Amino acid sequence: MKDIIIIGAGPSGMTAAIYALRANKSVLLIDFKGYGGQIINAKSVVNYPGIKEISGIDYAKTLYEQVTSFGGEFVFEKVKDIIDGDIKKVVTEKCEYECKSVIIATGTVNKGLGLENEDKFIGRGLSYCATCDGNFYKDLDVAVVGSGEVATDDAIYLSNICNKVYLIIKGDEFKYLDKISNIDNIEVVFNSSVTNINGEYKISAIEINNDKTIPVNGVFVAMGQTPENGNFRKFVDLDENGYIKSLDCTTKVDGIFVAGDNRVKELRQLTTAVNDGAIAATKACKYIDTL
Ligand SMILES: Cc1cc2nc3c(=O)[nH]c(=O)nc-3n(C[C@H](O)[C@H](O)[C@H](O)COP(=O)(O)OP(=O)(O)OC[C@H]3O[C@@H](n4cnc5c(N)ncnc54)[C@H](O)[C@@H]3O)c2cc1C
Repeated sequence: MKDIIIIGAGPSGMTAAIYALRANKSVLLIDFKGYGGQIINAKSVVNYPGIKEISGIDYAKTLYEQVTSFGGEFVFEKVKDIIDGDIKKVVTEKCEYECKSVIIATGTVNKGLGLENEDKFIGRGLSYCATCDGNFYKDLDVAVVGSGEVATDDAIYLSNICNKVYLIIKGDEFKYLDKISNIDNIEVVFNSSVTNINGEYKISAIEINNDKTIPVNGVFVAMGQTPENGNFRKFVDLDENGYIKSLDCTTKVDGIFVAGDNRVKELRQLTTAVNDGAIAATKACKYIDTL
């Protein structure tokens, strides 16, 4: 049994781990994707106080090394439920883990295309992180779906690696057109939604608006993030967008805390995520000391 189980090994979860481990508590972090959370999608972080510039991946690696150096343990599984009690159980797809206190630091997930066969292509041509996976598509044709700054930056990044980049945009206007207008191998496809992905084992093409097919080897989805807190509904109140309502990282249940981007807040950034992690861990440690 661990003192604290942290669900989510993003910046808030790993910060919580550092604070709890420094207070001499045993900690297990559970994350179904690996460690790092959303920040691994950032090519360059320049607004974290005290660090002039660092890639998101290097920032996540440093946090991971810090956690393991203090004795934190990781398992990579998806948490489906928490069973409350004097001893709390965190239930994953594979097993149950026991602890005295739980911190829910599940952040947000990337918004998907909403297609039935989407999951089948994850890792077989479909990606939510151009920085992580772009190099697998060297000299190939890819599509980026989304019209925000991240989609634009992804398209620019991929244009340096890939043969051709289609930028699939829902509307007929594109705010960041100036940024890409002089890049020959980016083609903006306006008024378009991806209505199907074609391919047997790997992606071979996408269908646009049910009537046009674009042959591509890879599809990068950059449509923003959303929380996924449904599994923890018993312990927390959610707002209309699914974010956890908690002013001070506590929940309705003693010993269960919340931290990070999954919470209702004004600003979702590293600084606010690590702030939450430190607070949640400190509260969890105090709770354990009263048992
Ligand atoms: C492209 C991009 C660029 C960014 N750039 C910056 C920047 O430059 N500066 C900055 O300050 N911020 C930046 N951010 C924001 C920053 O990444 C987030 O604020 C921060 O990652 C939030 O940390 P978190 O730990 O709360 O959540 P997340 O980073 O979302 O981590 C949550 C973790 O929980 C895991 N998880 C979720 N549900 C479960 C479950 N049921 N079971 C197990 N594990 C689960 C997820 O896999 C994930 O690893 C950027 C975000 C993006 C997407």
